[in-house]
This record gives sequence, C-alpha cells and structure tokens, in this order.
Amino acid sequence: MSDSPYAQLDWDAQGQPLSRQFDDVYFAREDGLGETRHVFLAGNQLAARCAALPAGGRLCIGETGFGTGTNFLCAWQLFEQSAPVDAQLHFVSVEKYPLSPADLQRALALWPELAPWSSQLLEQYVAIHAGFQRLLLAGGRVVLTLLIGDALELLPQLDGQIDVWFLDGFAPAKNPDMWGLPLFQQLARLSAPGASLATFASSGFVRRALIEAGFAMRRVPGYGTKWENLNGHYAGPAAAAEKPWFARPQYRPQQRTALVIGAGLAGCATAASLAARGWQVSLLERHADVAQEASGNPQGVLYLKLSAHGTALSQLIVSGFGHTRRLLQRLQSGSDWAPCGVLQLVFDAKEAERQARLAAAFPSQLLHSLDQAQAEERAGIQLPAGGLFYPEAGWVHPPALCQLLAAHPQIRLLPHSEALQLRRVDGQWQALDGEHLLASAAVAVLAGAAEVKRFAAAAELPLKRIRGQISRLPQTTASAELACVVCAEGYVAPARHGEHTLGASFDFHSDDLTPTAAEHAGNLQLLQEISSDLSTRLQADLLDPAQLEGRAAFRCTSPDYLPIVGPLADSAAFATIYAVLSKDARQVPDSPCPWLDGLYVNSGHGSRGLITAPLSGELLAAWLNDEPLPIPRSVAEACHPNRFALRRLIRNTK
Ligand code: SAM
Repeated sequence: MSDSPYAQLDWDAQGQPLSRQFDDVYFAREDGLGETRHVFLAGNQLAARCAALPAGGRLCIGETGFGTGTNFLCAWQLFEQSAPVDAQLHFVSVEKYPLSPADLQRALALWPELAPWSSQLLEQYVAIHAGFQRLLLAGGRVVLTLLIGDALELLPQLDGQIDVWFLDGFAPAKNPDMWGLPLFQQLARLSAPGASLATFASSGFVRRALIEAGFAMRRVPGYGTKWENLNGHYAGPAAAAEKPWFARPQYRPQQRTALVIGAGLAGCATAASLAARGWQVSLLERHADVAQEASGNPQGVLYLKLSAHGTALSQLIVSGFGHTRRLLQRLQSGSDWAPCGVLQLVFDAKEAERQARLAAAFPSQLLHSLDQAQAEERAGIQLPAGGLFYPEAGWVHPPALCQLLAAHPQIRLLPHSEALQLRRVDGQWQALDGEHLLASAAVAVLAGAAEVKRFAAAAELPLKRIRGQISRLPQTTASAELACVVCAEGYVAPARHGEHTLGASFDFHSDDLTPTAAEHAGNLQLLQEISSDLSTRLQADLLDPAQLEGRAAFRCTSPDYLPIVGPLADSAAFATIYAVLSKDARQVPDSPCPWLDGLYVNSGHGSRGLITAPLSGELLAAWLNDEPLPIPRSVAEACHPNRFALRRLIRNTK
C-alpha cells in the first residue's frame, strides 16, 4: 500500500490548519477571508470583471495551490453576486497534497458565511485522485478542474486559456517550486491575452521571475499589517501554435444549437454538457426512450482497468471514474446505483502480478489488495482467492444516469428518430430519415456507438462491435449476503430490485441481439469461477439457461481501446494536405486541418462507458466552447478522431 496522498495537517489553538509538509499556514491567521478578498479578488478586479461578462460569457481563473478551497469559494461567491445569471465560471487549480475530505470539512467549518458554497463543494469532494479531476457545481454553472499532483508536472499538460491568476503557494522561502521561472513560464503559456495576476507574495525574486516570464508587475499595498503584495498582467507573446491536426477548430456558430445522434450514455452526456453551457440541444434517438441499447443493462459495473504505467487510457479512467462517481451523488443510492465497492479477484498468476503492481502504484483510497479472508469478509460470500478492492466503486443502473443527464430544459429528446443521413446546408447540419428532416443545428455530434460509421464523415473510424449478453438472476435469501460487486473474467453484482446482474459474454462475430441459452450457460460458468458458493446460494444448478432472462447489446471499441472523442475532419483532404508525413513523420506542416465545421464524435467507449462517456461529454463541450480541457492535452490527443488518419499516413513512412 502506498502512503496517504493527502496533506498532513496540524491544527493550531484557534482551529486553523497548518501544513506539516511545508510548516506554513493555509491562509492569514487573523483574517483569512479578508486577505483573500483583498489580495486575490480585489487585486484582480474580479467583481468588475464578473459584472462585465457578456450574457452566456465565461471567466476562467487559474490557481496555484487549491489547499482548503477558500479562495475558490470566495471567488464563486463573488461570481454569483456579480456575473450575469447565464455566465459560467471555470476554476482550474493545481494541488499536490489535497486535503482529505474530513480535513476539508473541518477547515471550511471556519467560514460559516461560505456554508452555502462549501456544502456543495464538500458534497462533490469524492474520488479526488491524482491527475485531472472535474467537479460540476451550481448545476454546472461553476466548473472546478483540480489538477492533483505537482504543479510543474501538471500545468504543462493543461490545455486552456486563463483570464485571472491566483498565485497562492506556501511562502516562497518554504515552497520555492511554486515561485520559480519554470512554473511562471507555464502560466505565461496558459495566459489569455492580458490575463491578470495577483499574489500575496512580495519577494523581489518572485517579482523578477514573473517579469522574466512576460508579466508586467507592480507592488500594491498589502492587507492588514502586510506592507505590500504583487499584482500584474501578462504582457508577453502568445503561445506557439499546436500541431494543426490536434489544434482547436475555430468554427463558432452564432447560434449555439446542436443535434446529438444517439441517446445512450455518450449522447446523453454530450447533450448535458452542452445544455449546461446554454446550448439548445436536439437529442435524436431511434428507440422510444434513452438508454435502450448498450446503456440499457439493469446494472453496469464501475470497473477500473488501470495500468501502473500511467498510460493515456489509465489516466482517462482515473479522471473519468472521479467525474462519474461525483455525478452519481445526484442519483438515488440503492435503486439507481450503489457505492458497494468492486472486488477484482486474482484468478491467475499473471493477474496476481498485475494487481501487485497496481497496489504499489495507486493510493489505498482508490484500490488495495485483500487476502482471501479479507475479501470474503468484504463480499459476504466464500471466494476462491483474494483480489484488488476498489472501495469507492460499485454498480450503476445506467438508464438512471442517462435520464439524469438528459433531464435539462435545454435538451429536447426526439424519440423514434433514426438519423440515416447527415448533410450540411447553409451552415446547418441536417439529420434526415430518408426525405424527412428530423432536426437541424449548427453543430452535430455522432454518439451512436458503431452506427456512427453509417455517416460518410465517420465511415473510416475503426470501430468494432462486440456482442455482450448479461443474465438476470433472481435473488435468494442466501444470495442477499453478497455485499459488493465481484469480478473475475465475468462479474456479478449485489441485487437491484430483487435481481442480480451477471455478465458478460464476448462475441466478436454475432450480429444478432436475441439472447441465447448458450450464452446464459456461459455466464453461469463465469459465476461458478467467481464463486461456487454464490453459485450455490443462487441455486444456479437448478436454473435452466433456456428460461433465463437477460439482454444482449453491442459494445463498441476502437483498436487502441481508447474512446474516439473530438472534431471530425474531411479524411480525403486530410490525406492530401498532410501527405508529406508519409515521407517524414517529423514534419509539422502549417496548413490548417480541413475540419468539417461543427461535426464531432463521441464513441468507442467499449464496456466502460460508465467511466469514460460522461467526462467525454465535458471534453466535447470544452472543444466547442474554448474552455480548459478536463483531461491532459496528451490524453485528449490519444482520444482524438484524427489519430487514425495520422497513423495511416505515418505508417507509410519509407
Ligand atoms: N489557495 C488555498 C486556499 O484557498 O486554501 C491555500 C493554498 S496553500 C497557501 C498552498 C498550497 O500549495 C498547499 O495546499 C500545498 O499543498 C500546495 N502546493 C505546494 N507545493 C506544490 C506543488 N509543487 N505543486 C502543487 N501544489 C503545491
């Protein structure tokens, strides 16, 4: 088990937190809120800037050192008091040692006047693990992106433009990393033109390094007994351009309307993220309601397939898990989901090695090893082995999550609407079903799993369908003891509404979605491997596979197992414009990418759509609204639709 990832705190006689790691205070002892408001809010003229935002506008604040979130809460309070009702606040803050939830609660109890905001933050402060963690607050009007880890490692991975900086590391003498030129160069790279900056610090070396990074700085009177502190703004050159095939498309429609094709998790999540930003969304679904295909199983598992090497997929999973887990706080526990934990059994020697590496790489709050006896105690049944336990995970009724996401006044669900063609006419995407126009909008998002390939613009995406079948097993008195999800090759969940979900088969060839007795029998075999005790408790021997209830659906996967999320380009034009890459893969031509204006895709979530689809909705919304991305730039590129066209060109390199 690794060490605690949390801040180590001491509490002084006044009940204020002190960092043991840095031997410093989180905020001014006498009047923490007063100093925050003077230094960071007034120092950046935040009230006036919030008031000056246009309708539907956005302000983006960046902070070094989230700590107790006091600065964030004060900024949010002021934003709520001064900004137009439909404006959005983005707050991106980096933190190497997040407070534990209990410490955060204790620290924030110091500010009763902030309770309306801190209570919302505390409710969402779950599954805060290393990497990018997005929290949606105030119904999505306030978006907090926490970068959990070292500022010097994470800020270079951030893709966004910051309007206002709060520099709030510990005192420069005690925390020099937070005040050096390398970090300030990152702030410069991320600054929107004219971005303002404020800090409590006043040291000459801080001022000089900020000036060297391109900020124009001035000394201003400090708060209370402090002589002075620093304000400034970015006056340096704009950041260098990115590779054109991963650059942000510049198309911004005058009217923010979108049609989203497919109302499974990916489509509902995309619609929700756009609607929260004021877009009018038509959500087209060929069935009568949301979540009728792969997102329609009675129980899905929050199954984290991580890598100890911090691959792009693994980073996406940790960020996506956190985001989904926080969304679930809004659902009914016990009926729509259950935070019962997930146990991944050690089923062979290779798996034992994999699990040992993961237990060494991740903190115990996310996952830890259990020996057989501990695992049996957790699961409430006898097991063949121990395994890895994910205490914050559990099962979800995916249709409930889809319904939650799609329930927004700006989303119009169009059931029984199967888009067969898509065409661009006069700056609008039109979705048609033969001659019948279903919807038109400035932006279209293809979110129909492998069906996205029916549209010419997405026909070359390498998406595959894999049939999966689950079996529904009636709960018995003895099976009610099952207390967490248990997975080996298959999985079984504690009962929801009197039935356990057991899954799932894999079939790469079948195109038929009628459940088969053979696959029910296969699932019962998976159950036997998970736990013969549970199999007995469920009287599985007496169950006739031909009589079992279940359902089958297609998972949709890409060759690298990452989802496909982002803007689409004209593939023929792409191959022509960037043909030089097939001769020299290191070339970066400066020709702009031939984007198909306003056309996006959100697909390829495999069997872990619960974890990756909701965050992918946020990613698409960030592309479309010029916001900071909710995941590292490299992870967004790893999920980008253009990666395949690029690989095709580079593979031809002689
Ligand atoms: N803004 C905070 C608030 O409102 O409570 C107070 C921030 S406190 C003065 C400084 C924070 O910087 C601490 O939470 C500390 O853990 C964090 N920190 C220090 N060094 C860091 C680093 N290298 N990378 C990221 N965070 C760091």
